Amino acid sequence: ERVGFAIIGLGRISLEQILPAFAQCRLARPAALVSGSPEKARLTARQYGLRPDSVHGYEQFERLREDPAVQAVYIALPNAMHREFTERAAAIGKHVLTEKPMATSSEDCAAMIAACARSNVRLMVAYRCQYEQVNRAAIQAAQSDAVGRLRFLQAANLQSSGPGPQWRYSRRLAGGGALPDIGIYCLNAARYLSREEPLEVVAQAYSPPGDERFREVEESMSFTLRFPSGLLAQAQSSYGAYQEKSLRLTGERGSLFLEDAFAYRGQRLHLFYRDGEHGLQRQPQIHPRNQFALELDHMARCIREKRRPHTPGEEGLRDQVIMEAIMRAAESGRPEPVPLLPADMTVR
Ligand code: NAD
Repeated sequence: ERVGFAIIGLGRISLEQILPAFAQCRLARPAALVSGSPEKARLTARQYGLRPDSVHGYEQFERLREDPAVQAVYIALPNAMHREFTERAAAIGKHVLTEKPMATSSEDCAAMIAACARSNVRLMVAYRCQYEQVNRAAIQAAQSDAVGRLRFLQAANLQSSGPGPQWRYSRRLAGGGALPDIGIYCLNAARYLSREEPLEVVAQAYSPPGDERFREVEESMSFTLRFPSGLLAQAQSSYGAYQEKSLRLTGERGSLFLEDAFAYRGQRLHLFYRDGEHGLQRQPQIHPRNQFALELDHMARCIREKRRPHTPGEEGLRDQVIMEAIMRAAESGRPEPVPLLPADMTVR
């Protein structure tokens, strides 16, 4: 029997990526829908073969308690709502897979971790790239002798965003602009590729004057993280630049280029290193699998085996603490230290 997920929020990520991905899952299946639009939810339920009585409004969320087919919830609501629905899910004994960014403040992240621990339910943040196979091959390569000691990382997550959806331009609902929405991928990659935690950040934010969308949140955030080994990771994130989602990691002996690192599909890894006199280039061939399906199956396996997910709540909290330091650095114009987490909240 597969692990049943209730999908909370039927926006773009749910309808266009997650629900279709279940078809490629081995351990997870959709079991209920929670939405503010009854008509959309009814149509979606029919499309995925769900019974009409497995559709609920946000106010009836607690009805999921009575549904044994639902073991977990997948939260795909605006960032500021992740905490409320995580706490409500934990209170009715359901495991939680929440979208990134985990929340809009480190206080909220800590409260989510505490709520799930109290109820003894698993908590995972949907860092899909950490389940994607080419990114995983890049992690292996980054740790190999061929690349050697890591020196520089450059990552970009850039796009040109349109007028909506409006919640992304609201500080209250989104927690920030390009940084928490897409810059977080660069930050998370710098951490999973190096397996280090940054000590210090410098940053600059920019918003075009007079653009209504960027009155509350930044259009662009550029930041540099300094790691204990000396690695410097530079990242650019923007809602106002031509699409780019790749990263380059350079070590003392070799480097790697990860094309479309943060895209939904189409990742490619290029390795460059020296062998004696020769410069070599290699492109590992990796059979693509749907990263959303891999992510959902990982959560399902953790629920079955009562295991801690690979990207638990502490991973989301860690990124949130660093993003708060990045925002302080952009504000102050000076390097800002990244605060340490209590020992029981460290991820690695
Ligand atoms: P979206 O705007 O398409 O969907 C959000 C949903 O929340 C909508 O169905 C909307 O009706 C509902 N909602 C409920 N209350 C709301 C309110 N007060 N204001 C606005 N909407 C409200 O957004 P999305 O792109 O699906 O993003 C949802 C979450 O998923 C966000 O946390 C986002 O960061 C994350 N996300 C992750 C990825 C990824 O690749 N992992 C990609 C996109 C979005």
